Amino acid sequence: MSDIRRVLVVGGGVGGLTAAATFARRGVEVVLIERRPTFEIPGVGLGQPANALRVYDTLGVLDEILATGFRYDHMSIFDPDRRLIVEHKFQMGDERVPAFCALSRLQLHEILLGAAQRAGVALRLGLTVSEIDDDGDRVAVRFSDGREDTFDLMAGFDGIRSATRLHVAGTAFQPRPSGYGAWRVQAPRPDTVRGMEFLQGIGSKTGAMPLGNDIMYLFHIRPEAPGAAFAGPGQARLFKARLAPYGSYVAEIAATLTEESDIVYSPIEPMMLPWPWFRKRVAIGGDAAHTVAPHLTQGAAMAAEDAFVLAREALNDDVSIEDRLMRYSMKRYPRCAFVYTFSGQWLHDEQSVRTAQDLEAARAELKQNASARIGWSDRILDGAF
Ligand SMILES: Cc1cc2nc3c(=O)[nH]c(=O)nc-3n(C[C@H](O)[C@H](O)[C@H](O)COP(=O)(O)OP(=O)(O)OC[C@H]3O[C@@H](n4cnc5c(N)ncnc54)[C@H](O)[C@@H]3O)c2cc1C
Repeated sequence: MSDIRRVLVVGGGVGGLTAAATFARRGVEVVLIERRPTFEIPGVGLGQPANALRVYDTLGVLDEILATGFRYDHMSIFDPDRRLIVEHKFQMGDERVPAFCALSRLQLHEILLGAAQRAGVALRLGLTVSEIDDDGDRVAVRFSDGREDTFDLMAGFDGIRSATRLHVAGTAFQPRPSGYGAWRVQAPRPDTVRGMEFLQGIGSKTGAMPLGNDIMYLFHIRPEAPGAAFAGPGQARLFKARLAPYGSYVAEIAATLTEESDIVYSPIEPMMLPWPWFRKRVAIGGDAAHTVAPHLTQGAAMAAEDAFVLAREALNDDVSIEDRLMRYSMKRYPRCAFVYTFSGQWLHDEQSVRTAQDLEAARAELKQNASARIGWSDRILDGAF
């Protein structure tokens, strides 16, 4: 029996739900707290690559995810009028898991929540941690409702604005605005959209991800002022104006947007914590430790991998808990840093296309190198973690 018997998981996103279910399935008593009062979440869709699907397989929910989502094995890069530049067949997956399966964020959360509940996780909604007292042997916690409890380990998967990260690493390493933002909206899926798509534009990029037989999500990435929020009246008009340079289904979807459309805007604020992801018995993972540009669709996948590796290393009690958490940090850093660098560089490259001449140069470069480049990323991320 491991010396880690009671774990507090903070945050009910992909990372927290996966961590809670993984610890609980290994016989640990788990309390999961989530700040929101319900599990309804905003967000559009998530492409989940083979490496994430393998984690979900360990929780017994792979079949449910595959039955719910849309599988795809390729991505295509087009010009703004959807003339093909290059198609890439993903080099991920095996006979058990496809290269990718995409589904709505809410559907993925509900499936992981089911796994956590079946494993016996105690869920507490509308709750945060207000005080942490970690003496190295136990973590004593005071919750926002005034109650107190003690745990052998606290795992903070509390997202990009993580309060647990502040406890672990202070204020030095913070996500900062990149100067770019992502717009998203769900839309009917044209039959031609059967994989992930990027339409390289001039001064922006647009694309689509299929989420089911009838739906997909449309996304658009461009420079935006730091601090811009783009919610409420006028949002649809601004989104339409941004999509105006694009043809094909993008123009058709833009024409249907109204103030009632469920448009989501998020700033892109990459951050990679170059610091062990723990202090004494408090560890962090997922967006709390690293946030990445969305280009490789690996952010939530890295959160799921972090959760799985944290449980595996913490419960392998051959050495002190600090050494185990160091092992966790050292194992996770290179993979997450790879995703951070690759997707960040991709963001900067595509957003540097500012003129028609730049687009012609990008077309030639993408045609020659993009598939080989993405193929290397596939092979690295398809490997063991
Ligand atoms: C435009 C865009 C597209 C993306 N597309 C993809 C994709 O296709 N595939 C992919 O894998 N990833 C994608 N990502 C990344 C992905 O959304 C994140 O990496 C992922 O959600 C991180 O999961 P997490 O569990 O670490 O954090 P979150 O999902 O942010 O969950 C954190 C949870 O903690 C809760 N919380 C916060 N603070 C507290 C507190 N103090 N106490 C208690 N609870 C708290 C929050 O309410 C939240 O529920 C995308 C991101 C963006 C911006």
